[in-house]
Amino acid sequence: MTMEEPSPLPNDSPVANSPDERQPTYRRVVLKISGESFGPSGERGISMEETVRIAEQVFAASKLGVEIAIVVGGGNILRGATFSYGQSLIHEATAHQMGMIATVMNGLALQDALESLGCDVRVMTALHMDDVAEPYIRRRARRHLEKGRIIILVGGTGSPFVTTDTAAAQRSLELDADVLLKATRVDGVYSDDPEKNPHAVLYGRLTYETVRQKRLRVMDTTAIAQCMEHSMPIMVFNFKKTGNIVKAVRGQRVGTLIEEEQAVRQTAGT
Ligand code: UDP
Repeated sequence: MTMEEPSPLPNDSPVANSPDERQPTYRRVVLKISGESFGPSGERGISMEETVRIAEQVFAASKLGVEIAIVVGGGNILRGATFSYGQSLIHEATAHQMGMIATVMNGLALQDALESLGCDVRVMTALHMDDVAEPYIRRRARRHLEKGRIIILVGGTGSPFVTTDTAAAQRSLELDADVLLKATRVDGVYSDDPEKNPHAVLYGRLTYETVRQKRLRVMDTTAIAQCMEHSMPIMVFNFKKTGNIVKAVRGQRVGTLIEEEQAVRQTAGT
């Protein structure tokens, strides 16, 4: 079996060799949390109960000493493409700006939830909003991380027509993260939509190329292309399972790992 075929997930196996498995494998991570994670289950809007649940996991992960930058989505409030679809009253670019503003709202909620737990946290925005959050400046973001602060990156890339997946890929590269952790509601990457197809198989490890060829639903194509070009590993995992954010940040494999073919082959021993 090649590692590109569906393979059962080894339980919590370390991604890289760590001399002591209690020690984190990663030094710095970018954690992408989609907007729907902030919403009440299946509904629009922001639930502080859900937000605190995320914050508690992030807080526990930060205690490992790993530097954490969080990119938040806004889909629980508005997605530009969906909002503007089929109507001429709003320019699609305007709708995307509204989507970016939605990510700011989620980020502010997460900031206060983290602060209530005693975290040192900063919100940095790609859109200019001086009264609300500090501007995203790469060097300043790195400095916050070095000082042990959690940073919440909002406003996406600041440009319309892309999504926060692209922002997460972009920030991972700019901040020299070791991995992009994509938190989702499912256990990883499947051969088909697991909510529609009960026979969908969960992949343990994949190459970027396979993701592209099979058009697997992982992240948008720009994000995958950027990660592929710069060999940024992506881990897709279910943050709803308690403890998974901590495990992912520590470097344990709790979902599907997407990386270069060479790395996949090495691990598979081929
Ligand atoms: N958005 C954008 N540029 C960006 C990031 C986001 O225009 O760099 C807009 C886009 O309309 C997107 C919305 O903001 O649909 C919310 O982000 P996203 O859909 O990525 O949120 P998620 O699906 O992660 O909740």
